[in-house]
Amino acid sequence: MIIGTPKLEMFKAKIKHIKPWFFFIIKYYFPYADFNRQNRGTVVVFNQTIYTKDPLSAPLYAHEIIHCEQQKNFWGAIKWWKQYLKDPKFRYEQELESYQMQYKVYCGMENDKEKRNRYLVFLAGILSGPLYKYCISFSQAEMKIKKGNG
Ligand SMILES: [Zn+2]
Repeated sequence: MIIGTPKLEMFKAKIKHIKPWFFFIIKYYFPYADFNRQNRGTVVVFNQTIYTKDPLSAPLYAHEIIHCEQQKNFWGAIKWWKQYLKDPKFRYEQELESYQMQYKVYCGMENDKEKRNRYLVFLAGILSGPLYKYCISFSQAEMKIKKGNG
């Protein structure tokens, strides 16, 4: 049992610690993505499988599970990725949903306000950063991720 997991559906997802064969496509669109990065390698979801170099914390697992749910099945995943790679608005919406859940699960595990805030800053930094091509400002990201949580 992973502490703080919000939904039972989570347990359907498979985790594989290998780089997916299609990673070169992601790399083409997102040069900053790096599966084997020392700290925080890029995690990839396809259908109900999560590809990650490192073990996932419960909040990050919850983030990826949201992507599994968004993709639904094999053809859903194909469609999702086609749009995700090319449509910044779609990508932002999908990621925001995941980051909101990630923060929510973290807050479910952590009561310390200071730590929650540090985590929010950490997440807002990623969402507003180079990986997603600066799709939103830092303060906007902070506000949106926090929405309804913590
Ligand atoms: Zn994501």
